[in-house]
Amino acid sequence: MRQPSHEGGIRRADKTLLDELRAAVAAEQVLTEGDLSAWEVDWRRRYRGRALCVVRPGDTLEVAAVVRACARHGAAIVTQGGNTGLVGGSVPDGSGTQVLLSLARMNRIRELDVLNLTLTVDAGCLLQQAQQAASDCGLLYPLRLASEGSCTIGGTLATNAGGTQVLRYGNARELCLGLEVVTADGEVWDGLHGLRKDNTGYDLRDLLIGSEGTLGVITGATLKLYPQPAAVTTAMAATPTLASAVRLLDMARARLGAGLTGFEVMNGTALELVRRHFPDGAAPLPPGPWTVLLEQSDAESAAHAQGLFESLLEAALVDGCICDAAVAASLAQSASMWRLREGIPLAQAAEGLNIKHDIAVPVSRIPAFVQHTDAALHARLPGVRLVNFGHLGDGNLHYNVQAPPGVAAADFLARHEAEVNALVYDAVMAHGGSVSAEHGIGVLKREALVRYKSPVALQMMRAIKAALDPCNTMNPGRLL
Ligand code: FAD
Ligand code: ZN
Repeated sequence: MRQPSHEGGIRRADKTLLDELRAAVAAEQVLTEGDLSAWEVDWRRRYRGRALCVVRPGDTLEVAAVVRACARHGAAIVTQGGNTGLVGGSVPDGSGTQVLLSLARMNRIRELDVLNLTLTVDAGCLLQQAQQAASDCGLLYPLRLASEGSCTIGGTLATNAGGTQVLRYGNARELCLGLEVVTADGEVWDGLHGLRKDNTGYDLRDLLIGSEGTLGVITGATLKLYPQPAAVTTAMAATPTLASAVRLLDMARARLGAGLTGFEVMNGTALELVRRHFPDGAAPLPPGPWTVLLEQSDAESAAHAQGLFESLLEAALVDGCICDAAVAASLAQSASMWRLREGIPLAQAAEGLNIKHDIAVPVSRIPAFVQHTDAALHARLPGVRLVNFGHLGDGNLHYNVQAPPGVAAADFLARHEAEVNALVYDAVMAHGGSVSAEHGIGVLKREALVRYKSPVALQMMRAIKAALDPCNTMNPGRLL
């Protein structure tokens, strides 16, 4: 709980800023009193900050007025959507001087153009709201994340979110055609066109996507839609090794083409945690070293998709790359397969703190990366549990390290986090990978970025930041 006399203790300059913010938006949308922890603490409860105030503008012009007021005072702005980010970028620092700009009230669906297959929304729209608006018109906005009920379109673009259908439809970047942005000096850039082709110089949209609130505030977006598939079908397969899972991926791509929309992998340790913490869930296959979850979207029918799955899985059994398989015969069976996959992070949270890595490696090199890194970690920290799962079709693994059974998780983290990170990230780089596939840099991975990103790339990034945010007021201390 914050101290009730918060505003009483602030400096005169901050008071002038607060007055200007109250003039920029309705006075009741500038919050300084009461419990602000919903905005000040991150989703994982790893970062707890303290804001000067929370400002909740209702439209783009109000955002611009807020940014101009902050610019006049040199006040830092932390933009927040749904506060589901996993790297500490969406909450203020502990100084009590940063303005928390919440876009949650900006949640209008602006326009749906059926013939152009585009949807234009306010940046504070929830992802689920955008999916629903598309589906109400028989169309699909295919970004799909477990946080879709609480994350915003602006947040998914600012972090270039991925999820479980990237294999077919791409990540948030590939699903965005236009942006509306308030710049660091409070100008509004209207780039909300629905064009699939536009070669008129530097791609400002691509610069803002993935910038984690450090270059400007995204206030609106035009999103790319697709026709709804006639049926979405799911299957599970047990594979003896990770290399056989990659072989199955190759066969699935060849046989299903663009119909293959998801290809997730889970190791035995991950599924064992789910069984332990959620014993009521159905398990379509007996425990094994690796399990693959495949999803197919079909333009014809569920029966057609099931037939394609059955012939793929029969061929894979003959090939020897899988040892068992099950095709979901109903929506309920399909949902229970997805619950196993989506239960992994929840089961991990129930098991205790762990060291998370969200890494990318070329698909072809994933088996070698995992074999090498598993062996190195087991040799260094006997008994350590490697909870390994993720979007194999995209070459993206959540390679998480949990304390050996019986060892206190907090002690394990305090003693070994730096060493484990160095070991895993060195291996990622040796296999041509990236230390952040989906979640971004935020505060959590700033040091890793400096250590692993090329110095030339960092220099270009700093030059861009200095050009677009010369006073360093947009989410300072994040990303760079
Ligand atoms: P926030 O958390 O509010 O902000 C995230 C970052 O974006 C911050 O740096 C913030 O300053 C900036 N930002 C937010 N809005 C704007 C804006 N309008 N303009 C400029 N900057 C802005 N991520 C994946 O990629 N794939 C997944 O599968 C996935 N699954 C998840 C599952 C769960 C249960 C949770 C909790 C998170 C998951 N995430 C995943 C992480 C998270 O990045 C996404 O939920 C989402 O992209 C964040 O959106 P948000 O609105 O909550 O953003
Ligand atoms: Zn993920």
